[in-house]
Amino acid sequence: LSELLADPSLIATQAYLAGDWVDGAGGQFEVTNPATGEVLAMVADVTREQTAEAVEKGRLAQKEWAARTAKDRSNVMRAWFNLIMENQEDLAKIMTAEQGKPLAEARGEISYGASFIEFYAEEAKRILGEIIPGHQPDKRIHVLKQPIGVVGSITPWNFPTAMITRKCGPAIAAGCSFVARPASETPLSALALAVLAERAGLPKGILSILPASDAAGIGQEFCENPSVRKLTFTGSTGVGRILLRQAADQVMKCSMELGGNAPFIVFDDADLDAAVEGAIACKFRNNGQTCVCANRIYVQDGVYDAFAEKLRAKVAAMKVGNGLEDGTDLGPLITEKAVEKVEDHLQDAVSKGATVILGGKPHEKGGTFYEPTIVTGVTQDMKVSKEETFGPFAPLFRFGDVDDVIEMANDTVFGLAAYFYAKDLSRVHKVSEALEYGIVGVNTGIISTEQAPFGGVKQSGLGREGSHHGIEEYLELKYVCLSV
Ligand code: ADP
Repeated sequence: LSELLADPSLIATQAYLAGDWVDGAGGQFEVTNPATGEVLAMVADVTREQTAEAVEKGRLAQKEWAARTAKDRSNVMRAWFNLIMENQEDLAKIMTAEQGKPLAEARGEISYGASFIEFYAEEAKRILGEIIPGHQPDKRIHVLKQPIGVVGSITPWNFPTAMITRKCGPAIAAGCSFVARPASETPLSALALAVLAERAGLPKGILSILPASDAAGIGQEFCENPSVRKLTFTGSTGVGRILLRQAADQVMKCSMELGGNAPFIVFDDADLDAAVEGAIACKFRNNGQTCVCANRIYVQDGVYDAFAEKLRAKVAAMKVGNGLEDGTDLGPLITEKAVEKVEDHLQDAVSKGATVILGGKPHEKGGTFYEPTIVTGVTQDMKVSKEETFGPFAPLFRFGDVDDVIEMANDTVFGLAAYFYAKDLSRVHKVSEALEYGIVGVNTGIISTEQAPFGGVKQSGLGREGSHHGIEEYLELKYVCLSV
């Protein structure tokens, strides 16, 4: 990997513990390239005790950081943002090597990830308190917004950079310190961010990036250590539930970005070509491994066959391969387990009467490469209607009636993202309002931006990331009652 980079010093394999580069007390673990199986690096394996040390150092450093002016904090973050963008190409290569996504998508994620540092560098200066009219003639009500303290963070492998910056951007801007445990599949992207934070002048203790194989132990440390005042997590609903239960002991404030099961609805008045483009962007980005990927594609009777054919033709032309090679549209899946999930949903659908019109088997490249797959005749009794596939599997459901499709779309415990394509204005409004989701894309398959609040309802999570709302997750309100 290092020979591919303009600046090989961006590859860090030690842990970044409160501003010091240290070895893992637990030894090291392997980071591999999912496209080739090659071992990319041996990375420090941090223990629970080291995590406690990072938290304590974070607690001590946070006070001084919070006491700085917002503009001071903002300037450091701006410098960090600039360095990330200056190193975009190298960071993208590191990401593709450890995560598998095509280089073009990795570049996109670096700029998306960096945008949270930029946005919250600006937002630091706009943490506005309030003065509320007093309830008695001699009373003044002031509301202060103060940083919550030390934040613990646990993130997944599908967006190795952006899932971290979306959290540490607002946290650090608010004046918190931040201790992150990146996914063990993708620690190199996270550690490279720390290299650049250090160069940007972020003070020691404000950021820790701790690769660790013992995810559960680190999660427990975050939940049981009284100095951690906030837990922010992105991952599955199952693990989110475990963490929420653990966090209950200390009544810890939690943000949870959990699983989704996104419906993507194509009404018969939709611009069909645009709907096909949107479905591809939304279903096959990161090879289907995003929590906002279309999981269930509902197409109205009148356009069902035409949509299926157009989608099949476009997806058939997509190129599967190593993300570092030019022209690759779809990389490998992250692990064997991910392949098994796709196969499971496919077999279940086929056994209940669905028809494969494209793909349907492991790709001839071997490893965890899988053919992009489209299946028609999918119904609500199939597994994919209830569970997130997280792979290149596009199931097409048929519907006739608008009310029916809303009911089917909402018939899930999840509520992260939903999408639909329609032109009729009244339909656009009614369907947007009726979908029980935190995010709705109308005539678009791409919804992520740092300027909008991202997050789910129901079992898809708690809290929002991005926009001016995102920083509130890292602030506490203090009501000061003044008698004058
Ligand atoms: P995904 O399928 O996206 O990896 P998971 O919820 O399994 O979703 O994992 C998300 C992150 O949570 C990963 O970094 C994983 O290592 C971590 N994790 C898994 N189990 C636990 C746990 N019990 N406590 C804390 N973190 C965990």
